[in-house]
Amino acid sequence: MTESEHDVLIIGGGVAGLTLALELADRRCVTLLRPTRDEIGASAWAQGGIAAVLAPQDTLEAHVRDTLVAGDGLCDERAVRFTVEHGPAAIAWLIDQGVPFTRDTSTDAPYPYHLTREGGHGTRRIIHAADATGRAVVDTLLARANAHPRIRLIADQQVIELCADRQGCCGALSLDTEGRLQRLRARDTVLATGGASGLYRHTTSPNPACGEGMAMAAALGARLVDLEFQQFHPTCLYDPEGPAFLISEAVRGEGGVLRDTQGRRFMPDYDERGELAPRDIVARAIQAEMQRAGSQYVALDITHLPAKTIEHHFPTIVAHCRTRGIDIRHEPIPVVPAAHYSCGGVATGLDGASDIAHLYAIGEVARTGLHGANRMASNSLLECLVFARSAAEALRHDHDRPLDCECPATSLDEWAPMPPDGEANALLERLRDVMSEHAAIVRSDAGLMTAQDQLKALKRDGDRLNERYRPTVATRRLGHALTVATALVEAALQRRESRGLHYNRDHPPIQT
Ligand SMILES: Cc1cc2nc3c(=O)[nH]c(=O)nc-3n(C[C@H](O)[C@H](O)[C@H](O)COP(=O)(O)OP(=O)(O)OC[C@H]3O[C@@H](n4cnc5c(N)ncnc54)[C@H](O)[C@@H]3O)c2cc1C
Repeated sequence: MTESEHDVLIIGGGVAGLTLALELADRRCVTLLRPTRDEIGASAWAQGGIAAVLAPQDTLEAHVRDTLVAGDGLCDERAVRFTVEHGPAAIAWLIDQGVPFTRDTSTDAPYPYHLTREGGHGTRRIIHAADATGRAVVDTLLARANAHPRIRLIADQQVIELCADRQGCCGALSLDTEGRLQRLRARDTVLATGGASGLYRHTTSPNPACGEGMAMAAALGARLVDLEFQQFHPTCLYDPEGPAFLISEAVRGEGGVLRDTQGRRFMPDYDERGELAPRDIVARAIQAEMQRAGSQYVALDITHLPAKTIEHHFPTIVAHCRTRGIDIRHEPIPVVPAAHYSCGGVATGLDGASDIAHLYAIGEVARTGLHGANRMASNSLLECLVFARSAAEALRHDHDRPLDCECPATSLDEWAPMPPDGEANALLERLRDVMSEHAAIVRSDAGLMTAQDQLKALKRDGDRLNERYRPTVATRRLGHALTVATALVEAALQRRESRGLHYNRDHPPIQT
């Protein structure tokens, strides 16, 4: 096993990890692990934009209120206020970094950049870079990080475990692309590893995390909170042969209408806000319509807008759909709901600190209390930015801890040679089937108990792989996914009500 020493080790280079690295590097030496071989994560796929109070007619109070309503009574109001109040400065920082947000070119523009509207927001407050905001932010920040003399980017390491001694977290164990083990000793360790949407079969990004960071933190004793609140995006392109591709909520924000396979607009039957109702309501309505009609998808129709407007606002969606044989300017888009965002995760304070000393969690891996039972659209990139910046503030002052981690060394000789990854990958696919069948958009007590039993059986097979054989990224990912899936199902069983994203037909919501 090779060893290396790091001042601050950031695991994950999405928007959260990159922001922290850039904000901290003037005070501390930063190592950023960002595997390139296998593009896990969500940031580069974010389309819609980032919510913040930017327009002169908008108010912090209104953004707070909309977020609390979406969170269905379970947000931590302190976290909501903190995020919303720090939002405008975070956007100013991104503009300063050079992110090419779409400008508002109209003569009476109230704000220099175009602001769009998404579900749950009472006004236009989403700043965006056309319909590829995540890509624009990641590319800009990554170029800055690459050029920064105090940020060391490491591309070939996948973390499989965190290390701890009596003083708390002291780094991580990782595997390189050849399967060699490395111990990365660190004064402070930050998880920025993304969410757990990869626990499901249909997802809105091609290769989302499966809760690896959450499982690694839990192994050190960190609390995982709100795991039952898994968001499903209502509108992923229905494309059984193609890669996962999201049809941004901004399409509905700009007037897109949902129709059943007969062409009937159905959302007004479910909610007076129609297509701009919160995502959980739209996702359940789509699922109900699909079940009623026995169809694999519903249609999202934007054809009432001029072709030029569609091309201007949604160039990425137009281009992707065209490659799949769909011209969205002239025909409706077939869509289905897919796993999209994990509201729960590692419990943290407003500075990103977890319960474990010297271990921080930021971005989708964390549960800050901002989202409560349901995330409002475009609040998550905002959370990545605000909490990365506050974690940077907290970490600035904390740099005199000796690098003498007592975490026991591990030797690969203790294990039998690596098994082929096929078995671990097949077990992960079975886990995804179990979760999609029994712990997805509409749940029941019996279904959740079935999931519990099936996950136990899968865990026996997963444990056998993990205990007997040399670790691989695939076997460890499976182990982490099993830990988080089991905890999610447990949390769902414990919640004896339907609330926000958690809908259990045995405990229907109380009608008021
Ligand atoms: C299709 C799509 C569209 C979205 N649109 C929006 C939007 O418009 N607005 C909005 O606010 N939010 C949106 N979201 C949500 C938002 O993109 C995510 O919540 C956010 O990008 C999460 O960023 P992150 O930095 O926490 O993690 P990620 O971007 O998921 O990055 C995780 C990083 O961790 C690394 N990693 C993971 N595990 C390991 C490991 N074991 N070892 C080493 N590295 C590891 C990965 O390689 C990656 O670099 C969207 C999500 C999707 C999927």
